[in-house]
Amino acid sequence: MLRVARGNGYSNFSTFVDSLKSDVPESEHERFGSFLPKDITTANLYHAQLSSRRRVEMLRQFADLTGCVFSELIDICLARGAVTFSKKRASLYRQGITIPLSELIPLNEVPVCPLCLKENGYGRQIWHFRSYTACHYHRTSLLSSCHCGATLSMSEQDFSETCHVCGDSLSDQVTKASETEIMVSSWLAGEPSEQLPQVADSHRWGLLHWYKLYVLPDSDKPGTQFLSYFKAWPEVLFEKLKADYAKASELSVITPNEMTFKGVFGELLMLSCRLPGSALADNIVLRDIVRFLSDEVIENGSPIGELAINSIEAAILLNTTTEQIASLYEQGILQTRIRLKNSEITTLTSPIFRLADVLCCWLTSYQSDTSNRRYLVSRW
Ligand SMILES: [Zn+2]
Ligand SMILES: [Zn+2]
Repeated sequence: MLRVARGNGYSNFSTFVDSLKSDVPESEHERFGSFLPKDITTANLYHAQLSSRRRVEMLRQFADLTGCVFSELIDICLARGAVTFSKKRASLYRQGITIPLSELIPLNEVPVCPLCLKENGYGRQIWHFRSYTACHYHRTSLLSSCHCGATLSMSEQDFSETCHVCGDSLSDQVTKASETEIMVSSWLAGEPSEQLPQVADSHRWGLLHWYKLYVLPDSDKPGTQFLSYFKAWPEVLFEKLKADYAKASELSVITPNEMTFKGVFGELLMLSCRLPGSALADNIVLRDIVRFLSDEVIENGSPIGELAINSIEAAILLNTTTEQIASLYEQGILQTRIRLKNSEITTLTSPIFRLADVLCCWLTSYQSDTSNRRYLVSRW
């Protein structure tokens, strides 16, 4: 919207809103104001309290008043995404790309690239996302404060490359970003990279989401480590899984066939199942987990195959639903490790299957176009 205001020749957002309002009938002012407040930081399409129908109506009105094409405007707006990432994390959807909601920075904290502001007169939407830390066009770090101490943000700056407090030029204050930062940021912006996995844009955000949950749960900015981690992929994950199993068997007083998958590998499958897709064709994390397990259990006959897994984990490995798992059990295609009291699979979280049985079931009876053994041999 800042861009639309700028395109209409305004240098200040609230003047732009006032002028739009003057074209709207008096009775509609309040309604319009709740959609487009003068302070852009309080305008929030994603969280808007308005019903979706009202939001669409307002957006249409906005397009009419400003001479924008409605469908183009809709296309660049952030919308609530229909899918969730692992651990039921909500998503945002924009122009075919799904991004975890946790990546979104509050508008009054969005850092800027003064060089982009100077050249284009508007900010980029990708600055709104936490893990994009360097402008990949100018190879400089995004700026979040001025040397006078003022906090910079996309909303405060409107379209200007000079500080909103002291008036100094911000272009003189930019610093060169590290190669790693530039590489990760440009990869997130959809550019090809030799060091990082070549996957669809949504899955790039998915890998970052997974990395933050599974590898570095306490770090806000994964930066350098993220790049070196994926340079060593998938061996780095395989080593970790082997170490997890060795440690669990060492500490365990019970035999391998009484140990559970969850007890050994924690939430590995739950964290890896939606990045945001779950088909092995797209989800390289899940693909390499299945590859590891299938090599260890089927080819090497490792005792890992004796681990007990529950219906949810089995459904993730077979890329299906827990209802389908129950039906495979009822049809006698998938056996349980213990005899169940009746033919009903009662609790989804009870570890009633053997990992080896689930993997064999997948290999012999349950491969599909998007989830099959062929994918296990491709890198990315
Ligand atoms: Zn820039
Ligand atoms: Zn300043």
